[in-house]
Amino acid sequence: MFSNLSDKLDKAIHVLKGHGQITEINVAETLKEVRRALLDADVNYKIAKEFTVKVKEKAIGQNVLTTLNPGQLLVKIVKDELTELMGGETVGINLGGSPTVILMSGLQGSGKTTFSGKLANFLKTKKSKQVLLVGCDVYRPAAINQLRVVGEQIGVEVYAEEGNQNPVEISQNAIKHAKANGKNVVIIDTAGRLAVDEQMMTEISNIHKAVNPQETLFVVDSMTGQDAVNTAKAFNDVLNFEGVILTKLDGDTRGGAALSIKSVVDKPIKFIGTGEKMEAIDVFHPDRMAERILG
Ligand code: GDP
Repeated sequence: MFSNLSDKLDKAIHVLKGHGQITEINVAETLKEVRRALLDADVNYKIAKEFTVKVKEKAIGQNVLTTLNPGQLLVKIVKDELTELMGGETVGINLGGSPTVILMSGLQGSGKTTFSGKLANFLKTKKSKQVLLVGCDVYRPAAINQLRVVGEQIGVEVYAEEGNQNPVEISQNAIKHAKANGKNVVIIDTAGRLAVDEQMMTEISNIHKAVNPQETLFVVDSMTGQDAVNTAKAFNDVLNFEGVILTKLDGDTRGGAALSIKSVVDKPIKFIGTGEKMEAIDVFHPDRMAERILG
């Protein structure tokens, strides 16, 4: 996936090989290439610029004290900075509350329903949780059916109320149902629209206020590049969400979203989706992702 970025960084860093020490002069060209590679990967201009400034500050004159050659040293600095850019540490989800309420947000097509299923399956199989999936899309019956199919596939109960047009009421009833039936995690899949609009934002904000979730997760398609960052900002302004889910990282994405989102909304990426199957979910590790980017 990130081959574009890693190839370019490779080439940029290659220029440094053969030099005994990193100096302002010999690193300048390499950093320009690093910045270009980041921009090509759809990383926000400001972030790419700040990134290269940081790498430069760390790199210059440092190698005297290490056994790494300048190329290796720069790779290490770039990797450390990429890790930082993506949040540094792995951040898990809060499973407090009784039951734990997880609210999914995001645009239609971002992979919300698929991810709700993946997360339910993950919590069931890896954390031995009793999960209830809740269908709250009152506009598209097909969305509820899709959730039912997912639920059947992973053996998790799906709660929906055909005919009820009030998603706040449905979510509240679902939590009551969960309590009465020994479920300790409730995952609420909400309706999505093709673009951010006021009605949708008001609706999810009302659900958010009514259910007071431990975790509100924003699901975003990593293929959407800079738009992913703008959408994240719009949702975060309304929901102040706990974490980001980057889906479709198996596709031909340039990866810029993973690199920009944390710095723009200052919220951690918690999981990634790497395919359509229920098992295609991974906890997000910034350091591993940085390694993957650098190849
Ligand atoms: P929603 O409208 O946000 O609920 O999105 P869906 O869950 O229906 O997903 C939209 C499409 O993206 C479906 O065809 C999914 O199979 C697909 N999809 C979701 N997550 C992933 C992923 O991580 N990788 C790939 N390749 N496809 C995904």
